[in-house]
Amino acid sequence: MTYQSEIHSVDLDPYIDGRRRKIGGKTFPTYDPASGTVLHEVPVADTAVVDEAVEAAARALKGGWAAVTPAERSRMLFRVAQEIRNDAERLSIVESLDAGKPLREAKGDIETSARYFEYYAGIADKMQGDTIPLGPDFISFTLHEPIGATAHIIPWNFPLVTTARGLAPALAAGATAVIKPAEQTPLTALMLPEYLERAGVPAGVVNVICGPGAVTGAPLVAHGKIAHVTFTGSVATGKAVLASAASHVASTTMELGGKSPVVVLADANMDAALDGVMKAIFTNAGQVCSAGSRLVIERSCADAFLDRLVARIKTLGFGRGLDNPDIGPVVSHQQLLKIEGIVTASVAAGAQLLVGGSVAHPEGLGGWFFEPTVLLASDPATLAVQEEIFGPVLTVQIADDFDHACALAECTDFGLVAGIYTSDISKALRFARIASGGQIFINQYFAGGVETPFGGVKNSGFGREKGLEGLKSYYTVKTVTARI
Ligand code: ADP
Repeated sequence: MTYQSEIHSVDLDPYIDGRRRKIGGKTFPTYDPASGTVLHEVPVADTAVVDEAVEAAARALKGGWAAVTPAERSRMLFRVAQEIRNDAERLSIVESLDAGKPLREAKGDIETSARYFEYYAGIADKMQGDTIPLGPDFISFTLHEPIGATAHIIPWNFPLVTTARGLAPALAAGATAVIKPAEQTPLTALMLPEYLERAGVPAGVVNVICGPGAVTGAPLVAHGKIAHVTFTGSVATGKAVLASAASHVASTTMELGGKSPVVVLADANMDAALDGVMKAIFTNAGQVCSAGSRLVIERSCADAFLDRLVARIKTLGFGRGLDNPDIGPVVSHQQLLKIEGIVTASVAAGAQLLVGGSVAHPEGLGGWFFEPTVLLASDPATLAVQEEIFGPVLTVQIADDFDHACALAECTDFGLVAGIYTSDISKALRFARIASGGQIFINQYFAGGVETPFGGVKNSGFGREKGLEGLKSYYTVKTVTARI
């Protein structure tokens, strides 16, 4: 099956002020990563179109969106969740084709996207402030006010789910939004307006514009009427976005990826640890900010564990996302070359290849595949240990004992996630204290979900998304104090 009808059903024009805007002009291609063929040519929003979108969001902030009561806002967000669920099949197919990810993972992403709207719908009418006791001569209270028009710069690894993660709390808090999906994966964000409209979200509250980062993302972030930028992407681009937001004093949420360790101690349940390590690195072919891309394992159990790991990896099969393979393609040719470059350089510098290590050419598929790879790296300075690869590449570091494992876990400049498998609760909790990261997973990698705050420290960024913490980016606190 080609799924042409799903792909052709996507309206590619930017969505501004409640309408599809026919802009003509330049386009950019979005590809099917499994075959390397073009799925669509999508219109590029230039600076003038970006300006229209931001102006629409700024008008809606004081106009249409401000006029909707919190209770009605809540009901609208519940309806958005329902509309996404009603169209989950079509959304999953489009996401799988555009990003290359296995269909089962795309389905999980779409359900999680709906869940974000449902979760934040529940808080939209409960965002109340405090009263502050100042004695008999004063009354003081706080107002939670929407932060303003917000920009959402979206990465290509989790297109719709990252959009929903920032958009749902923004809308719950009464803010408005301009969404700029990644140029590799714009399609599901372009479908979102269908659900918002059916749910009754007023014109201008959410605007979707597409284009390359330098052409469309940069003027969006630089726009003086953007009050907050929610960014997920690479460290280098994040720094540029931060500097641009700073020029007009916009606040930011920066989710900049990681190089997250999974520590396996000798007393761990090895079956659970093996399942966890496999999932941590091979979900979405390793293209996950919070991927567990570094195995840190205690020496006494390392040989047996690595034998089992390599044997499991040798059973993994490739395929296009829609056929639900173990490993799908990576998102672009550029990404494939980056993975290959880091692996090759690391092997040349002395890392030992335990399995994989090369570009793959599965029969009948002309796209961008990389073999699931394990590299034993005794030197923590190895490029593959230090650089975020965003591919199916796991490094292994051998630790003499718990303290050494903690030190190895801490050997990078990132701090997004750290995981540990052990049956010793004291060691697990000591690790939770020691490890840098916005979240620590004990005995289940990727534990938690929409409800649990997520974000980084160090080069992984700052600010928190998800959970009630995720709301805080989207409102300001105004204190009103009266002498009476
Ligand atoms: P990658 O290098 O993996 O493609 P990026 O961090 O460059 O990741 O991209 C993440 C998102 O940031 C994408 O939506 C991209 O278009 C956008 N982007 C890239 N450069 C800029 C920029 N200068 N300003 C704003 N957004 C940008």
